[in-house]
Amino acid sequence: MHTIAAISTPEAPGGIAMIRISGEQAIQIAEHIFVSYNHLTISEMAGYTCAYGNIVDKGERIDDVVLTVFRAPHSFTGEDTVEITCHGGLYVSKRILRLLFQNGAKPAEAGEFTKRAFLNGKMSLSQAESVMDIISADGEAALKQANLAKDGYLGKQMSGIADRLVDFMSALAYWMDDAEECPPELERDTLSASLNEIKQQLDQLAADYQNGRIIREGIRTVLLGRPNAGKSSVMNWLCGTDRSIVTDIAGTTRDIVTEQVKIGEYTLLLSDTAGLRETDHQIEQIGIRQAYQELENSEFALYVIDANEGITQEDRDILGKCPKKTLIIWNKTDLTGSEPPDLPFPVLMMAAIENPSFNGLLQCLRGIFGEAVTNRPQIMNERQHCLIESASASIHEALKLIADGSELDILYTSLEDAVKSLREINGTNVDEDVINGVFSKFCVGK
Ligand code: GDP
Repeated sequence: MHTIAAISTPEAPGGIAMIRISGEQAIQIAEHIFVSYNHLTISEMAGYTCAYGNIVDKGERIDDVVLTVFRAPHSFTGEDTVEITCHGGLYVSKRILRLLFQNGAKPAEAGEFTKRAFLNGKMSLSQAESVMDIISADGEAALKQANLAKDGYLGKQMSGIADRLVDFMSALAYWMDDAEECPPELERDTLSASLNEIKQQLDQLAADYQNGRIIREGIRTVLLGRPNAGKSSVMNWLCGTDRSIVTDIAGTTRDIVTEQVKIGEYTLLLSDTAGLRETDHQIEQIGIRQAYQELENSEFALYVIDANEGITQEDRDILGKCPKKTLIIWNKTDLTGSEPPDLPFPVLMMAAIENPSFNGLLQCLRGIFGEAVTNRPQIMNERQHCLIESASASIHEALKLIADGSELDILYTSLEDAVKSLREINGTNVDEDVINGVFSKFCVGK
């Protein structure tokens, strides 16, 4: 395989930049352009050691750098690797990269370093995917989940389940071929109980995925309420800016304003909408139509009610169209001591105008979304989710065959399908297209 090079740090000026070279020729190529201050050549350097020196082009010094050597297989990619840490100017890092290309390195494709790590057996496909999740983690919870996957817990769980199923398949094969008596683990009740337990594990993983998705992608949230209830004030409280125009003229907010707000471990992808009410005003009507569309696309609604006015039939009608996960904000409590009536959703009492802390809201979110941070390994993307669902469906099929009283040898194919899906999560026997699809989502240099 050819030797690849890329800048691994972001394409922006910074304190330092890092250029990575990986492949059989990594050391020789780097040697052409590097002169160390202690006169040691890179070939003489042991793995995991650094040298301080200059990058030179035809005798001209380009930059002074720190160069680190990793020797195969003890590197991220499993190949000989050299990392050059230079000054973080865009020109200087690109100049060094160009020099490496002139000396025989090829430009790395997106995710190619991690792809090589996978192909060289340094990590499973699910671990490779978690590298990208670590890079894109935007908070403590997302990072924790990505690290669990990176440490291989998900992969181990998948292998463990697949190995159990393979044991059943071996017992079935043996029994079909030779044995006269059914082995105890293949007694219908015992086998059913074991497969049910495995299915439950898979279904738990699929359910946890929804929570994991909320952590990674944020919660599509719509902010609703009748005009003047205080939606824009709530939006500004959440965003800490005056993003939405606050006035007491009904119908001021006509566009959908979107913001991303971090509340504890949750990210709300918020859209503030036009106040919902009957109106003849044409532009406002468009805003209201958009608000209803937003409502359909959202998985969470914050519904603002003016405590001073109380709840109206119109509010109740709109609440009837809200998602299952909705929080009512009983706003303007500074104006009235009136308690909210019985409402179909949890209620947060507050006065947006007083800019309260987020503690109350965070407690409500935890109540509504449950345990967003778990120590259980979670599946992290749609590829893994589909494979878990299909493994679960194959086991469901096997359970049905047992329940229907079918001959047990028919189960073999269903179990085999489940194993295939589970193994695919870790990247065993996957098509090249699947592998390329996974790594195409990576950035260059990773
Ligand atoms: P929207 O039409 O639902 O977006 O409502 P706005 O946020 O524009 O607020 C309408 C009016 O209610 C404005 O005059 C706000 O200052 C006022 N308002 C909003 N929240 C509160 C609150 O908590 N207490 C009081 N007293 N007034 C508020």
